[in-house]
Amino acid sequence: MTTKSAAAAARATVYGYPRQGQNRELKKAVEGYWKGRVTADALQDTAAGLRRRNWRRLAEAGVHEVPTGDFSYYDHVLDATVMVGAIPERHRAAVDADALDGYFAMARGTQEVAPLEMTKWFDTNYHYLVPELGPDTVFAADSAKQVAELKEALAQGLTARPVLVGPVTYLLLAKPAPGVPADFEPLTLLDRLLPVYAEVIADLRAAGAEWVQLDEPALVQDRTPAELNAAERAYRDLGALTDRPKLLVASYFDRLGDALPLLAKAPVEGLALDFTEAAAANLDALAAVGGLPGKRLVAGVVNGRNIWINDLQKSLSTLGTLLGLADRVDVAASCSLLHVPLDAAAERDIEPQIRRWLAFARQKTAEIVTLAKGLAQGTDSISGELAANRADLASRAGSPITRDPAVRARSAAVTDADARRSQPYAERAAAQRAHLGLPLLPTTTIGSFPQTAELRTARADLRAGRLDTAGYEERIKAEIQEVVSFQEKTGIDVLVHGEPERNDMVQYFAEQLTGYLATQHGWVQSYGTRYVRPPILAGDISRPESMTVRWTSYAQSLSDRPVKGMLTGPVTMLAWSFVRDDQPLGDTARQVALALRDEVGDLEAAGTSVIQVDEPALRETLPLRAADRAAYLAWATEAFRLTTAGVRPDTQIHTHMCYAEFGDIVQAIDDLDADVISLEAARSHMQVARELAAHGYPREAGPGVYDIHSPRVPSADEAADLLRTGLRAIPAERLWVNPDCGLKTRAWPETRASLENLVAAARTVRGELPAS
Ligand code: GLN
Ligand code: ZN
Repeated sequence: MTTKSAAAAARATVYGYPRQGQNRELKKAVEGYWKGRVTADALQDTAAGLRRRNWRRLAEAGVHEVPTGDFSYYDHVLDATVMVGAIPERHRAAVDADALDGYFAMARGTQEVAPLEMTKWFDTNYHYLVPELGPDTVFAADSAKQVAELKEALAQGLTARPVLVGPVTYLLLAKPAPGVPADFEPLTLLDRLLPVYAEVIADLRAAGAEWVQLDEPALVQDRTPAELNAAERAYRDLGALTDRPKLLVASYFDRLGDALPLLAKAPVEGLALDFTEAAAANLDALAAVGGLPGKRLVAGVVNGRNIWINDLQKSLSTLGTLLGLADRVDVAASCSLLHVPLDAAAERDIEPQIRRWLAFARQKTAEIVTLAKGLAQGTDSISGELAANRADLASRAGSPITRDPAVRARSAAVTDADARRSQPYAERAAAQRAHLGLPLLPTTTIGSFPQTAELRTARADLRAGRLDTAGYEERIKAEIQEVVSFQEKTGIDVLVHGEPERNDMVQYFAEQLTGYLATQHGWVQSYGTRYVRPPILAGDISRPESMTVRWTSYAQSLSDRPVKGMLTGPVTMLAWSFVRDDQPLGDTARQVALALRDEVGDLEAAGTSVIQVDEPALRETLPLRAADRAAYLAWATEAFRLTTAGVRPDTQIHTHMCYAEFGDIVQAIDDLDADVISLEAARSHMQVARELAAHGYPREAGPGVYDIHSPRVPSADEAADLLRTGLRAIPAERLWVNPDCGLKTRAWPETRASLENLVAAARTVRGELPAS
């Protein structure tokens, strides 16, 4: 290989593109289909149109090889489940009756059957549906979707590369199916799965694929020798197939570590590596194995998950180093562009100068193309782009938005004592019991109530000037009245105001904090048809005035029962925003924590005796490699304690998290020192309760008994059974009764029925407790 020929061959590519369309057309079509307002044909047309537009846009921007198969109606891991035929038994009939309806049944459940479990895709805010496998799983290839989408792209006259979830990652993301022993390891199915992949790959070859990309992000996590062996075997076997397309194995989100040498040696034609945060480690590892002679290296130098412009000069220098290490070096984003919004140019409300600091999918694509051109034709060919990039980087670094001296001084003065409650837990708990007077197994909810169409319309009307502030606030008040009276009538013990004024739990605060930027169209898929608009942590953070006291106090004025104050915690504020890339995350977290600490103080002063600080994102931000975790958890837990530790002993601090697997952060949850934690647990049958118990968790906990990710109403018996399961792990004195998460995505009828059942279950199980 020569550096020169590697450079001349450089091309631009991406692994995936946002699916929704500029106006979230996909969301509207899919939800319309669910409601029976959109036919299957119309849905398919909308989807095909979106794919066509994305490909055309990529090709016109100068991307050489467009990705196919990354599109999804709901989730690409669920698509992989369909592709390998791993349909769970309980969904088989629905899938056989109608493939599309069966697909959505797996995703969302039906009144009769539960959906697949959902969990976070690595350390992102995207959620995938967890494959369920067992020793009896029979795989069968179904390449229809992959082949059809490849053919669509080829028919447009484009060079296209199908992108598949790789077989090792697929198995490592799976869990034992219901009824299968918990220690079953899906990876043991590898030998059965590989022939299915071989078949799909052969079908793609027959349909015209020159290259097929197999995504193996699971290999950037710490893997056991057995798992690494499996990866080695997988690519030895797939590589040994005859008459196959060239294979590109893609890794992203972190360094490849021990998996790098074995993939470098594997009989595949290409390797994609993350050269953003993991750049140094991947470069060293690549150099150590003597590069990738004879192979194609796809270099993810443009960060695929933040929204800041690339430092083009720096990327060029990384690429320059890589040129000596492979036969061909292509330029890409570090991961699929699924995790960023579509187009920064659409953000008309952001000052043009600041908008120039931002790069969404469309701008990142342009950066990738520019870099590939610079590599192939020399930096002179991109001198204009380089000069503009230098100016934009300088404008950002020198802006007063970026640095506020008062915020920096306060942050620097924080002491350990600021992050510690004034009394140990046992004393606080007694004071809280006396102050709150709650029954055993107290019932509560996680905060939000249904965000009805009327509420969303009212917010849109307010924005558009069709409704004045007074009119809007009347709507909010009416909603809070309804939510409070429903909870009182239903017999819930600790009430919430329902968060009707909040569009989104992060955005609501971001809009009120100085230093944050909001977007108008910056939608990113969270799960299925749910999209969020992550705000942008652009500068130093401060709180001009109280953010939540008014509505919490209003709700409290309507009831004698305690109303919980509701805040989003500092770690989640970071995790669900686009973060700064110009200072350590811990520094940003501390700034946010100090602003929230003032809010907690204001709530307490206004008479709020229960304050919940949600940290649903604590775990997803956990670094993928164990070696990086302690440092993260230190700043993350400190930021939570800094937010909450200033309160009186009899003020009860709650926190909330929602994900199922949770064993690896129990210690961190303990370190938060919150008095009560509510957790997602319904789909995993109270697994977290057992994990907390095994750890010896000393404080109160509410593992969820109502799965809110689906419209299904749990019966009172079902909820009671879950509670009894919970009681086997957590004593009645410390067990709370609540749903898995907030109810904002649910409709009122199912919410009403479910919460009534939840309260009935609590009453039933209270009646079964031994009298004390
Ligand atoms: N309080 C928030 C709500 O109920 C928590 C949401 C979450 O954990 N994602 O909506
Ligand atoms: Zn939640």
